[in-house]
Amino acid sequence: MTTKLLAPGGNLEMAIGVLEKGADAVYVGAKGWSRRTENYEMDNSDIKTVAEYACKHGKEVRVALNTIASSTEFPLMIETIEELYSYGINGVIMTDPGAMHLVRDRFPDLEIHASAGANIINEEDIKFYRAAGATCIVAPCNITMEEIKFIQDDLNLKLEVFLHSNNCFTYLGKCTMSSYIKQDWHIENGKNRFFGSPNRGGHCNRVCQSAWDSGNDSVKMTNNAFLLLNTIPVALKNGVSYLKVQGREYSNSLIFDIISFYREVIDRCKNGTNDLSGYIFRLNELSRRRDKERDLRTAGLLKIAKSNEKIKRIEI
Ligand code: SF4
Repeated sequence: MTTKLLAPGGNLEMAIGVLEKGADAVYVGAKGWSRRTENYEMDNSDIKTVAEYACKHGKEVRVALNTIASSTEFPLMIETIEELYSYGINGVIMTDPGAMHLVRDRFPDLEIHASAGANIINEEDIKFYRAAGATCIVAPCNITMEEIKFIQDDLNLKLEVFLHSNNCFTYLGKCTMSSYIKQDWHIENGKNRFFGSPNRGGHCNRVCQSAWDSGNDSVKMTNNAFLLLNTIPVALKNGVSYLKVQGREYSNSLIFDIISFYREVIDRCKNGTNDLSGYIFRLNELSRRRDKERDLRTAGLLKIAKSNEKIKRIEI
């Protein structure tokens, strides 16, 4: 099986740009339905443009609709997917198993990725999401090579492995700390829009990065981001379906450089080179730029979370 590089599309320019830089597939967020604010989501007309470009160049498009929908939101969700499906998207990224089941029934040929938000961590979780309709799952972070083989060969599921993401202190998708501090919502075009809860379609306030009082000390919880390198030859050897770069909220220039970097590394590995030591300097430089952007955003989010300001729209 060919391993594909899956890149973020936080806006139209980023979505087209990553495909030009060598990504095999791009994922974008449908307005109101993904685990990011609207600044990093795209409206249907932009998604149509991306789908047309991807189709013309033999690439793929995934659309994230990975919020946990209420029953009243299901008809609108199906209507949205029907529209996106007519543009030729190849798959959706979802969290809610009930919604997944509904989409599997209505769109049998659509790839369904069980989102990182589903926080799949063991074999029984994997079987559960497969029964709900998922065809691809995000690999648990402690996955072994035997499990990769088992999931792909015996369970007949595709696997997605993160090359760039962050390690939440708690289980991603099961953390509700953010909305305890601050949450706000309004209804827009028939859809509840939440701010402060990624599970319901807003951003995470990253409150774990605030100073927590532990009695005597003020502590910060761990939430590191990573960029992987040595996993790539192993993932290619085992035929992992997607190597994914997260980062719709980062600058276009940083994401373009990360995708160009990984395109080069993957192609080098496919040509038989497994010694990647020559790439460490560039990887460290990309990590440094990523951390700089990430720290600035975290500081901005925490400032708003602690203020009395309503969080209707975030420009960070
Ligand atoms: S509050 Fe921290 S641990 Fe929880 S989802 Fe946000 S970044 Fe992850």
